[in-house]
Parts: sequence; structure tokens; C-alpha cells
Amino acid sequence: MPRSYVAETRRKKVAPKKERIGPVVDRLAAEHADAKIALAFTNPLELLISVMLSAQTTDVNVNRVTEKLFAKYRRPEDYLAVPVEELEQDLFATGFYRQKAKSLRGAMQRIIELHDGEVPEEFDALLKLPGVARKTANVVSAERGNAQGIVVDTHVRRLSQRLAFTKQDDPVKIERDLVRLVPRKDWARFPHLLIWHGRRICVARNPRCEECPLAVGLCPASRI
Ligand code: SF4
Repeated sequence: MPRSYVAETRRKKVAPKKERIGPVVDRLAAEHADAKIALAFTNPLELLISVMLSAQTTDVNVNRVTEKLFAKYRRPEDYLAVPVEELEQDLFATGFYRQKAKSLRGAMQRIIELHDGEVPEEFDALLKLPGVARKTANVVSAERGNAQGIVVDTHVRRLSQRLAFTKQDDPVKIERDLVRLVPRKDWARFPHLLIWHGRRICVARNPRCEECPLAVGLCPASRI
């Protein structure tokens, strides 16, 4: 289990989280107007594959690999038409390439057999694709304008703990707390705001509270 940031919330007294969530979203949206998914894709199939490949690596790395990948493989059938070793080679730079190739081929097979070659819209159908866990299904649904939950990655986990939006460490339980707190209209953009804030200001080791628009009155972990 990665480090927990729950204890940092003991520093400052702030209003209850239900009163803070609106101003937090507004201030982060003003600070990070450019916050959006960092993966490059042009259609739902490319979106699904990019998110599947992003496990255990950076978005920059995925984009580097998919630039060539999507020029070569355009339809689900294309991923099954080559020997698995060739696909593994094409995914090599994303890490865990054997497992990723296996999952990709399984997902493409199911998309062809059950969904007429199209990435399904329904959340449950996405979850049944081999290699697609809740986080992947959440990202894909949110980017298609149909958010069914809130994506929890390492940044969302850390910031939700520091902002005392959750006391949980487990991503599924954190998501459960967040969907009760965050208005549904903000489910898709909320993780992007936390991710960008987590990369730029509320970094893991030494958060830059002096530059943070939440530092006064909104964040119980503030160091100023
Ligand atoms: S950077 Fe902002 S959100 Fe992070 S701990 Fe400091 S005040 Fe809180």
C-alpha cells in the first residue's frame, strides 16, 4: 500500500467538506483551466487502448508508443491479425508488454464478437472486457461524456486525503467517498483538476502550499 496522507489533515481547522467542495472545484478550475486527459487519441478505440496501456507507465510514454501503434493498427481485427510476438514488440516500451498484449487481444476479440467491432458505451460491458478494470472503465466513460464514477489515481488519492475528502487508503473506498461528495456534473473534470494540481503544486514530498489557491481556508493540510 502506498504512503497515506490522511494524518497531514491535522494541521488546520477548516469548514466541513460539504461546504468546501464547491470552492475547491472552482478555485482549481480557475488555476488549471487547461486540465484535461494527457493521452492522445482520436476515437473511442484509441482511447480505450491508450488507457489500457497507461498502467504502470507515464502518459508521455504511452503517447510515444501509440503514435506508431495507431498508424499500424486501425481496427480491432488488426490487433488479432499479427502474431502475438509482433504486437508484444510494438507494445514493448510501455512495460509489462506481454500482459498488455494479452489483455488487448482479449478485449479486441470480445469487442468484435459481442459489440460489432465498437467499444461499448455501457460501463458494465466495458468492465467485462479482458484487462479493463474500474479505473480504465471510468476514464473511458468520462472522456465519452458519460462519467459513471470518479477516477482515483495516485494524485487523486493523495489530494483527497490531504483535503480531508476521505480517510480511506483503498481506491475503491476513496471513490465511494468522492461520488457522495462531488456533484455529478463535476465527476469527469474533478480527477483532472486534482491530477494537474498534484503534478504542479500539491506534489507528494514537499507540497508548494505558498503557491496554492486552496492554502487559506480550504485545505486542512496547508503548511502556511
Ligand atoms: S499544496 Fe494546497 S492542497 Fe496541497 S497541502 Fe498545500 S495547501 Fe493543501
